[in-house]
Amino acid sequence: MNHCYNCDSDKVSFEKNTFKCICSDCGAWVANMDDQQDFHLLYSKKYFDGDEYLNYELGKKVHRKNFQKKIKILKPHFSKRDIRILEIGAATGEFLKTAKENGIQQILGVEISDFAREVAIKDGLKVLSPFDPSLEKEIKALSPNLIVAWDVWEHIDCPSLVMKKYLELCSPDVIFAVTTVDSSSSVAVKRQEGWRQFHPPTHINYPTKKSFEIFFSKNHFKLLEHFHFGYVRPLAVYLAAVFGPKKWLKNSSLLFSVPLYLNLFDTQMVIAKRDDKKDN
Ligand SMILES: [Zn+2]
Repeated sequence: MNHCYNCDSDKVSFEKNTFKCICSDCGAWVANMDDQQDFHLLYSKKYFDGDEYLNYELGKKVHRKNFQKKIKILKPHFSKRDIRILEIGAATGEFLKTAKENGIQQILGVEISDFAREVAIKDGLKVLSPFDPSLEKEIKALSPNLIVAWDVWEHIDCPSLVMKKYLELCSPDVIFAVTTVDSSSSVAVKRQEGWRQFHPPTHINYPTKKSFEIFFSKNHFKLLEHFHFGYVRPLAVYLAAVFGPKKWLKNSSLLFSVPLYLNLFDTQMVIAKRDDKKDN
């Protein structure tokens, strides 16, 4: 019996090629991995400085604009209610800092990277390792009514399983907001393994829009919003895509300070709310 960790369906079959398996129910891709990865080691300082991120530190200011936009999208779903955020994959805490600046004080982050977590803690945020023995207690104490996972789903081995565990600890009226890749997008369908988002081992799971429709329906969540999210990125990142990660780019404060918006319609944002009528 096969389980899909994107749509959370049982008894699915997977069509397998050299690089990936495709779920028969939702069409999500799962990269073929040779060995069990030690995710803890994948996300060292180098990941944020030269590997997956050209220079995370210099790009922070521009990336904050994306977080600001996400908060603007989420806030209307809470009207006058207090927001209590749990962020999965908090990295160095830039989203949580932006949330604080927007008056959201009750926040907690989970981050697997020792390097990123230490930066966040140094900046005064509460960010714990997913292996921290006190994590469950801390989540229950916060009783989050908003759980966010920005561009994290694709990095996790069994994302639907992991997210369900966190959701169980949250408030009954929790809203779950995710941004991740969309392998049913026309760019992904056309480019296949040449798609810029296809890079195992850091990206393992590639859900489709249908993955979330099934996942949320199975888990008694009501979809509130589902659309393709465009990002603002520093000019340096676009230039690196053309010229490669040259030193003159990597360390240029000027080129990292210029924001450019691009929507390739291959990143989905989905917001769903736990349905009050669920029978648990
Ligand atoms: Zn599936």
